[in-house]
Amino acid sequence: MSFKAEYIWIDGTEPTAKLRSKTKILADDAKGAELAIWGFDGSSTNQAEGHASDCVLKPVFSCPDPIRGGDDILVLCEVYNIDMTPHETNTRAALVEVAEKFAAQEPIFGIEQEYTFFKDGYPLGFPKGGFPAPQGGYYCGVGADEIFGRDVVEAHLDNCLKAGLAISGINAEVMPGQWEFQVGPVSPLEVSDHLWVARWLLYRTAEDFGVSATLDPKPVKGDWNGAGAHTNFSTKAMRETYEAIITAAESLGEGSKPLDHVKHYGAGIDDRLTGLHETAPWNEYSYGVSNRGASVRIPWQVEKDGKGYIEDRRPNANVDPYVVTRLLVDTCCSALEK
Ligand code: ADP
Ligand code: MN
Ligand code: MN
Ligand code: MN
Ligand code: MN
Repeated sequence: MSFKAEYIWIDGTEPTAKLRSKTKILADDAKGAELAIWGFDGSSTNQAEGHASDCVLKPVFSCPDPIRGGDDILVLCEVYNIDMTPHETNTRAALVEVAEKFAAQEPIFGIEQEYTFFKDGYPLGFPKGGFPAPQGGYYCGVGADEIFGRDVVEAHLDNCLKAGLAISGINAEVMPGQWEFQVGPVSPLEVSDHLWVARWLLYRTAEDFGVSATLDPKPVKGDWNGAGAHTNFSTKAMRETYEAIITAAESLGEGSKPLDHVKHYGAGIDDRLTGLHETAPWNEYSYGVSNRGASVRIPWQVEKDGKGYIEDRRPNANVDPYVVTRLLVDTCCSALEK
């Protein structure tokens, strides 16, 4: 008996990378063994020129495939050049280094992934050529007049749980057809690997319902909420003292840090971080307790307890988790080390 391994990787599409995958049939004796490297045609994924098109897939995380079931697996890969140096689109390799450097501070992340369902060119729940009732009743709503796509969302949640991903919750969002799931809190590499696989499962699950999901940060212009990826972060010290919470929040505002971060927080960030719709302007850094109009929020419970975590509200839904976790660990852990 053989089994199926779905090799998944992140491509070179600009300005936002896409997920790609293909299937490898493995012999029974490959079960439990180290997964083999594989290759693909990089000229079809914006990762190579046609005359030297080979790229290498190196497995870094695997889990049960909840869609195929049985012994079949999903295999998340890093992309390498044929000389086994990390490909320029491989953002995970840089996170591995920074996560190792600051491992003693025990950084953990919970990421809130917002996304929007589309069908026939319109957000799910939007009437063709028009608009639904204005925002107000949809967030965490119930009922067919407010909720669009719950069957897909439930199937996706079950698939993430069957895969053993660290998914920790779901909710309906402010705009109709918009939803959120949360991953974590777990280590920087774990939250990022699990989030990429959860994204793949989202697209794959929705495919069977004839619906597509997008991480577009501003899927509908005008008075409709954008889609973000609030990134919740703590270190051991932040989980113990309020002083460390403030040090972390302050460090993100120092010198060129606000722009250094924001420009890597997802394409189109200035369309979403306008200062409206529960956002802070993209070019002004601020932090505050309970403040959903600040760049970084300190939850009220964290102030009350005098310890906990901070929420960076700036990342777009289309952010690369390998990049946002690397930047936060680098900036905050460097400041906390002093
Ligand atoms: P909200 O929508 O109010 O911003 P959510 O419940 O959607 O909040 O998300 C809160 C996130 O915070 C969760 O993903 C959770 O995993 C994460 N979180 C909780 N405690 C910590 C912590 N100590 N460090 C990092 N993340 C945390
Ligand atoms: Mn071929
Ligand atoms: Mn949330
Ligand atoms: Mn949300
Ligand atoms: Mn949030």
